[in-house]
Amino acid sequence: DVRHGPILYMEDVTVSFDGFKAINNLNLTIDDGELRCIIGPNGAGKTTMMDIITGKTRPTEGSVWFGSRHNLLQMNEPEIASLGVGRKFQKPTVFEALSVFDNLELAMAANKGIFPTLTARMTGEIQDRIDEVLSIIGLTALRFQPAGILSHGQKQWLEIGMLLMQRPRLLLVDEPVAGMTEQEMERTAELLVSLAGKQSVVVVEHDMGFVRSIARKVTVLHQGSVLAEGSMDQVSSDPKVVEVYLGA
Ligand code: ADP
Repeated sequence: DVRHGPILYMEDVTVSFDGFKAINNLNLTIDDGELRCIIGPNGAGKTTMMDIITGKTRPTEGSVWFGSRHNLLQMNEPEIASLGVGRKFQKPTVFEALSVFDNLELAMAANKGIFPTLTARMTGEIQDRIDEVLSIIGLTALRFQPAGILSHGQKQWLEIGMLLMQRPRLLLVDEPVAGMTEQEMERTAELLVSLAGKQSVVVVEHDMGFVRSIARKVTVLHQGSVLAEGSMDQVSSDPKVVEVYLGA
């Protein structure tokens, strides 16, 4: 459900590393509530694009807006995160010795800059949000288990849950299904599809079957620019895309 225009707007963005353009005149618009998949061969600029959105990398040229009001090029990484931009890297980084529940609580506390002792001083609001997130990520039954015993897929869902604690508006997810079983991939597809609408989700993924199963709209990056954009059927039958990527 599209609300009020784009959540993310990148116009004519270029990033040069010593003269090499990792991002070259990139134009990308993500609508509010959209689930977008970004694909492209190695070196296409996918990671650099995510780094620009979170403020880790500064463009050499161009503009990047979050909603209509926030010029991301005038904000640093913590400021961008506090707008509600959450990033999930490929490898899960949960606290293995802590319970699933405590991982979620800590994610909330870290965001607020407070570190309550893990059992004390929890407000009803945080408790409610933890319950809600546990249900979204399907880990309610495992909430008091140490995160270390979770499967790889469950750890990925927990980390997504840790980002959800902060009620992000835009989630950036890097190769979520790498290393997952078929069943975990199906569950992850359901999870990401269910998150869209409530927040915008941008997924970088190499597994084309997975992309096909979740994406309404796919953006193909190549040499730092958008090569093609549309449904999976549209882009995968585009001769330019076949040539540089799917046919390789
Ligand atoms: P992808 O994630 O699609 O594989 P990247 O964004 O990681 O692509 O990289 C795009 C291009 O930019 C690659 O050719 C890479 O070698 C180059 N690159 C990325 N980061 C740097 C950097 N810090 N310095 C120099 N070159 C870089």
